[in-house]
Amino acid sequence: MANTNESLWPSGVYKVTFLQNPEDYRFRFVEVGQGCTCSNEFTNCIHGKCDNVSAGFYCTGKNCSFGEQEDCGNRLTEFPGLQLFNGRFGLHVRTTREIPKGHIVAPYWGFLTTEDGSNPLLKKRYLLMVKSFGYKPAPIEGDKKTRRKPKAKKGGNLRLHIDAEYCGNISRFFNHSCDAYCVFSERRYKRRMAMVVIATQTIPAGKEITVDYGKDFGFKCGCGHCAA
Ligand SMILES: [Zn+2]
Ligand SMILES: [Zn+2]
Ligand SMILES: [Zn+2]
Repeated sequence: MANTNESLWPSGVYKVTFLQNPEDYRFRFVEVGQGCTCSNEFTNCIHGKCDNVSAGFYCTGKNCSFGEQEDCGNRLTEFPGLQLFNGRFGLHVRTTREIPKGHIVAPYWGFLTTEDGSNPLLKKRYLLMVKSFGYKPAPIEGDKKTRRKPKAKKGGNLRLHIDAEYCGNISRFFNHSCDAYCVFSERRYKRRMAMVVIATQTIPAGKEITVDYGKDFGFKCGCGHCAA
Protein backbone atom coordinates (compact mmCIF):
# COMPACT_ATOMS: atom_id res chain seq x y z
CA MET A 1 0.00 0.00 0.00
CA ALA A 2 2.66 2.50 1.03
CA ASN A 3 4.62 1.53 -2.07
CA THR A 4 1.68 2.41 -4.33
CA ASN A 5 1.37 5.81 -2.68
CA GLU A 6 5.10 6.42 -2.97
CA SER A 7 5.32 5.40 -6.62
CA LEU A 8 2.24 7.36 -7.75
CA TRP A 9 3.01 10.55 -5.80
CA PRO A 10 3.76 13.33 -8.36
CA SER A 11 7.32 14.62 -8.26
CA GLY A 12 6.18 18.27 -8.48
CA VAL A 13 4.29 18.12 -5.19
CA TYR A 14 6.18 18.33 -1.93
CA LYS A 15 4.69 15.96 0.64
CA VAL A 16 4.05 17.70 3.97
CA THR A 17 2.71 16.61 7.35
CA PHE A 18 1.65 19.97 8.77
CA LEU A 19 0.37 23.35 7.61
CA GLN A 20 3.12 25.37 5.93
CA ASN A 21 3.16 28.92 7.24
CA PRO A 22 6.40 30.70 6.27
CA GLU A 23 4.67 34.13 6.38
CA ASP A 24 3.83 33.51 10.05
CA TYR A 25 0.10 34.25 9.83
CA ARG A 26 -1.60 33.83 13.19
CA PHE A 27 -5.04 32.95 14.44
CA ARG A 28 -6.65 34.36 17.54
CA PHE A 29 -6.61 32.28 20.68
CA VAL A 30 -9.64 30.11 21.43
CA GLU A 31 -10.21 28.61 24.87
CA VAL A 32 -10.47 24.84 24.48
CA GLY A 33 -11.79 24.18 28.00
CA GLN A 34 -11.74 20.86 29.82
CA GLY A 35 -12.06 18.69 26.75
CA CYS A 36 -14.33 15.77 26.01
CA THR A 37 -15.60 12.81 28.01
CA CYS A 38 -15.96 10.31 25.18
CA SER A 39 -15.64 6.72 26.36
CA ASN A 40 -17.00 4.45 23.65
CA GLU A 41 -14.35 3.05 21.36
CA PHE A 42 -16.84 2.85 18.48
CA THR A 43 -18.01 6.44 18.72
CA ASN A 44 -14.80 7.96 20.00
CA CYS A 45 -14.76 11.66 19.24
CA ILE A 46 -16.90 11.78 16.15
CA HIS A 47 -19.38 14.33 14.93
CA GLY A 48 -22.54 14.49 17.02
CA LYS A 49 -21.02 12.62 19.99
CA CYS A 50 -17.99 14.55 21.16
CA ASP A 51 -17.91 17.93 22.91
CA ASN A 52 -14.65 18.83 21.19
CA VAL A 53 -16.13 18.23 17.76
CA SER A 54 -19.32 20.14 18.65
CA ALA A 55 -17.24 23.11 19.73
CA GLY A 56 -15.11 22.99 16.57
CA PHE A 57 -11.89 21.79 18.25
CA TYR A 58 -9.66 18.99 17.16
CA CYS A 59 -8.44 16.51 19.76
CA THR A 60 -4.93 16.38 21.11
CA GLY A 61 -3.48 14.33 23.96
CA LYS A 62 -4.43 17.20 26.28
CA ASN A 63 -8.13 17.76 25.59
CA CYS A 64 -9.29 14.25 24.68
CA SER A 65 -10.45 11.55 27.09
CA PHE A 66 -8.37 9.04 25.13
CA GLY A 67 -5.19 10.93 26.00
CA GLU A 68 -2.04 10.50 24.00
CA GLN A 69 -3.18 7.36 22.21
CA GLU A 70 -4.02 8.60 18.76
CA ASP A 71 -7.05 6.51 17.94
CA CYS A 72 -9.96 8.87 18.34
CA GLY A 73 -11.88 10.17 15.35
CA ASN A 74 -10.88 13.78 15.77
CA ARG A 75 -7.08 13.80 15.44
CA LEU A 76 -5.04 15.48 12.72
CA THR A 77 -3.94 12.16 11.26
CA GLU A 78 -4.67 10.40 8.00
CA PHE A 79 -7.02 7.44 8.30
CA PRO A 80 -4.94 4.28 7.85
CA GLY A 81 -5.33 2.56 4.49
CA LEU A 82 -5.83 5.54 2.17
CA GLN A 83 -4.51 4.55 -1.23
CA LEU A 84 -3.71 6.52 -4.38
CA PHE A 85 -4.83 5.06 -7.69
CA ASN A 86 -4.93 6.15 -11.32
CA GLY A 87 -8.43 6.86 -12.62
CA ARG A 88 -10.51 8.94 -14.97
CA PHE A 89 -9.23 12.29 -13.66
CA GLY A 90 -5.66 11.32 -12.93
CA LEU A 91 -4.94 10.46 -9.34
CA HIS A 92 -7.80 9.45 -7.05
CA VAL A 93 -7.85 8.10 -3.48
CA ARG A 94 -9.70 5.11 -2.09
CA THR A 95 -9.89 3.61 1.35
CA THR A 96 -8.90 0.02 1.98
CA ARG A 97 -10.73 0.09 5.35
CA GLU A 98 -14.21 1.17 6.35
CA ILE A 99 -14.25 4.75 7.67
CA PRO A 100 -16.92 5.50 10.31
CA LYS A 101 -19.38 8.33 9.78
CA GLY A 102 -18.18 11.53 11.46
CA HIS A 103 -14.52 10.48 11.54
CA ILE A 104 -11.71 12.71 10.24
CA VAL A 105 -10.49 11.10 7.01
CA ALA A 106 -7.43 13.33 6.74
CA PRO A 107 -6.28 16.87 7.41
CA TYR A 108 -5.86 19.11 4.36
CA TRP A 109 -2.30 20.39 4.50
CA GLY A 110 -0.77 22.97 2.21
CA PHE A 111 0.60 26.48 2.17
CA LEU A 112 -1.15 29.23 4.15
CA THR A 113 -1.52 32.29 1.93
CA THR A 114 -3.46 35.51 1.38
CA GLU A 115 -3.72 34.63 -2.33
CA ASP A 116 -7.40 34.11 -3.01
CA GLY A 117 -7.38 32.79 -6.56
CA SER A 118 -8.63 36.05 -8.06
CA ASN A 119 -5.39 36.40 -10.02
CA PRO A 120 -6.16 34.61 -13.31
CA LEU A 121 -2.52 33.63 -13.64
CA LEU A 122 -2.75 31.51 -10.52
CA LYS A 123 -4.31 28.10 -10.50
CA LYS A 124 -6.98 27.76 -7.87
CA ARG A 125 -7.68 24.11 -8.16
CA TYR A 126 -6.14 23.29 -4.79
CA LEU A 127 -7.06 26.52 -3.02
CA LEU A 128 -9.37 26.30 -0.01
CA MET A 129 -10.72 29.30 1.84
CA VAL A 130 -10.22 29.42 5.62
CA LYS A 131 -13.26 30.73 7.51
CA SER A 132 -11.36 31.83 10.62
CA PHE A 133 -9.70 35.18 10.08
CA GLY A 134 -5.96 35.36 10.56
CA TYR A 135 -3.64 38.23 11.20
CA LYS A 136 0.00 39.03 10.73
CA PRO A 137 1.94 40.11 13.80
CA ALA A 138 3.40 43.61 13.59
CA PRO A 139 7.16 43.61 13.26
CA ILE A 140 8.94 43.69 16.59
CA GLU A 141 10.36 47.14 17.23
CA GLY A 142 12.81 48.59 19.70
CA ASP A 143 15.56 46.88 21.58
CA LYS A 144 15.42 43.58 23.41
CA LYS A 145 14.23 45.18 26.66
CA THR A 146 11.10 46.68 25.15
CA ARG A 147 10.16 43.69 23.02
CA ARG A 148 6.63 42.62 23.61
CA LYS A 149 4.68 39.74 22.22
CA PRO A 150 3.70 40.52 18.62
CA LYS A 151 0.19 41.90 18.41
CA ALA A 152 -2.26 42.11 15.56
CA LYS A 153 -2.06 45.18 13.38
CA LYS A 154 -5.04 47.49 13.51
CA GLY A 155 -7.74 46.14 11.28
CA GLY A 156 -5.55 43.13 10.69
CA ASN A 157 -8.20 40.55 9.87
CA LEU A 158 -6.82 38.56 6.97
CA ARG A 159 -8.75 36.25 4.71
CA LEU A 160 -6.47 33.24 4.32
CA HIS A 161 -6.44 30.27 2.01
CA ILE A 162 -4.68 26.93 2.03
CA ASP A 163 -2.94 26.26 -1.27
CA ALA A 164 -1.99 22.66 -1.99
CA GLU A 165 -0.79 23.23 -5.54
CA TYR A 166 2.89 22.60 -4.77
CA CYS A 167 2.76 20.94 -1.37
CA GLY A 168 0.22 18.87 0.46
CA ASN A 169 -0.81 15.47 1.70
CA ILE A 170 -3.07 12.76 0.35
CA SER A 171 -6.26 14.82 0.76
CA ARG A 172 -5.01 16.98 -2.13
CA PHE A 173 -6.02 14.08 -4.39
CA PHE A 174 -9.56 13.62 -3.06
CA ASN A 175 -11.78 14.34 -6.05
CA HIS A 176 -14.90 16.44 -6.06
CA SER A 177 -18.33 14.90 -6.28
CA CYS A 178 -21.72 16.55 -5.97
CA ASP A 179 -22.79 13.40 -4.11
CA ALA A 180 -19.68 13.07 -1.98
CA TYR A 181 -18.83 11.00 1.07
CA CYS A 182 -17.06 13.90 2.76
CA VAL A 183 -17.04 17.61 3.47
CA PHE A 184 -14.35 20.05 4.54
CA SER A 185 -14.49 21.32 8.09
CA GLU A 186 -12.33 23.70 10.07
CA ARG A 187 -11.08 22.74 13.51
CA ARG A 188 -9.23 24.90 16.02
CA TYR A 189 -6.98 24.28 18.97
CA LYS A 190 -5.89 27.35 20.95
CA ARG A 191 -4.00 29.39 18.31
CA ARG A 192 -3.97 26.68 15.69
CA MET A 193 -6.32 26.07 12.80
CA ALA A 194 -6.61 22.96 10.68
CA MET A 195 -8.79 22.15 7.71
CA VAL A 196 -9.96 18.55 7.85
CA VAL A 197 -11.98 16.22 5.64
CA ILE A 198 -14.89 14.59 7.51
CA ALA A 199 -16.85 11.49 6.48
CA THR A 200 -20.52 12.51 6.41
CA GLN A 201 -21.52 8.87 6.03
CA THR A 202 -19.78 5.57 6.62
CA ILE A 203 -17.38 4.92 3.74
CA PRO A 204 -17.13 1.22 2.90
CA ALA A 205 -13.74 -0.35 2.26
CA GLY A 206 -12.75 -0.11 -1.40
CA LYS A 207 -14.69 3.10 -2.13
CA GLU A 208 -13.20 6.25 -3.58
CA ILE A 209 -12.93 9.21 -1.17
CA THR A 210 -14.90 12.13 -2.60
CA VAL A 211 -15.46 15.61 -1.18
CA ASP A 212 -18.02 18.23 -2.04
CA TYR A 213 -15.83 21.23 -2.90
CA GLY A 214 -18.86 23.47 -3.35
CA LYS A 215 -19.69 25.38 -6.50
CA ASP A 216 -16.53 27.41 -6.91
CA PHE A 217 -13.90 24.77 -7.47
CA GLY A 218 -12.69 26.15 -10.78
CA PHE A 219 -13.11 23.15 -13.07
CA LYS A 220 -15.89 21.27 -14.80
CA CYS A 221 -17.40 18.59 -12.60
CA GLY A 222 -17.28 15.09 -14.00
CA CYS A 223 -19.21 13.34 -11.24
CA GLY A 224 -22.10 10.99 -11.96
CA HIS A 225 -24.66 13.78 -11.52
CA CYS A 226 -23.00 16.43 -13.64
CA ALA A 227 -21.52 14.30 -16.41
CA ALA A 228 -24.68 12.23 -16.93
ZN1 LIG B 1 -14.25 13.18 22.34
ZN1 LIG C 1 -10.67 12.70 20.89
ZN1 LIG D 1 -21.00 17.05 -10.04
